[in-house]
Amino acid sequence: MTTLSVVVPMFNETAVIPALVTRLRPVLDALGEVYEVVAVDDGSRDDTVSVLLDHGRDWPQLRVIRLRRNSGHQAALTAGLHRAVGRWVVSLDADLQDPPEVIADMLRVAREDGVDVVYGVRGDRSTDTAFKRNTARAYYWAMRRLVGAEMPAQAGDFRLLSRDVIEVLRRLPERAPVYRLLVPSLGFPSTEVRYVRAARAAGETKYPLLRMVALAWESTASFSAAPLRLATWLGMYSFLLCLALIAFGMVAYVAGATIPGWTSMFVAVLLLSGVQLVCLGLLGDYIGRIYATVQNRPTFHVGFDSLDDVPRTATVVPESIGDESRAPDLRPVIGARG
Ligand code: UDP
Ligand code: MG
Repeated sequence: MTTLSVVVPMFNETAVIPALVTRLRPVLDALGEVYEVVAVDDGSRDDTVSVLLDHGRDWPQLRVIRLRRNSGHQAALTAGLHRAVGRWVVSLDADLQDPPEVIADMLRVAREDGVDVVYGVRGDRSTDTAFKRNTARAYYWAMRRLVGAEMPAQAGDFRLLSRDVIEVLRRLPERAPVYRLLVPSLGFPSTEVRYVRAARAAGETKYPLLRMVALAWESTASFSAAPLRLATWLGMYSFLLCLALIAFGMVAYVAGATIPGWTSMFVAVLLLSGVQLVCLGLLGDYIGRIYATVQNRPTFHVGFDSLDDVPRTATVVPESIGDESRAPDLRPVIGARG
């Protein structure tokens, strides 16, 4: 049984792989556990795969998964998390911004505290650019409002998950999971390990502004239907405004300060646009519900039932799905608490 899997998504990371191997391998070898490193090549256009395979020749624990095309950081992470076999799974960026030494702490803390999730929290980001720090602060501020206080601020994708969490994640049918929000929303017992975020060891960031915006939008849209309801609120407010303007139009009509036909056009346009916005908002609300249904997230997770001696992780999903692979998970948690 593999104790630990380390999932590393990589996109055009040739420059950083030698440094990564040099830092990561001693840490993992020193654990004295059975482990695997799952390097997921996210459709790189450089020599990432061949460099990885070269290193794999004298590092048998290095497993290489190649995605046929560039699918994005979170998708590469999904591929790795789904295929990792370890009892514990750590996700790690390739660029050594997250120090691999912390993995040992994460594993120790998870076992000592009996938790399922250990977040790597960036205590100090002074090596990031001011722009990155500020956009990140805004992102985490907004996301904590969406997901709730369980979401640790400044916890990116460096974290340790237990097999139980992985199994729950694997059963979620979501197309584009954003793990930094999804994992806290599951509510597993968790703790944090602080670390100092280093500068990128080599190569350039693979997260240009456009991708950061895309991640922020994906995060918002996958956790909130509020943008869909925008039209309702706009409709309500503009409707009130329209009523005032209609009154103004009437007064102008009575006072004879209008040209023929103006008042009727004015009133019709105002009324109809208000009504349309409200109807759009209504549609948005129902689409929001359809979206939530399609996402098919479990409505609750049972962590413990006193009827069972051992703590259980039961994931209850709507039964109408009728899909065996998503049946409630009633396996006992093995070793999660000691
Ligand atoms: N990454 C990926 N696919 C992509 C973009 C990035 O697998 O399309 C990987 C990248 O190789 C790295 C991790 O995601 O291991 C984080 O990217 P990066 O360090 O460039 O982001 P930053 O730290 O600048 O936000
Ligand atoms: Mg990075």
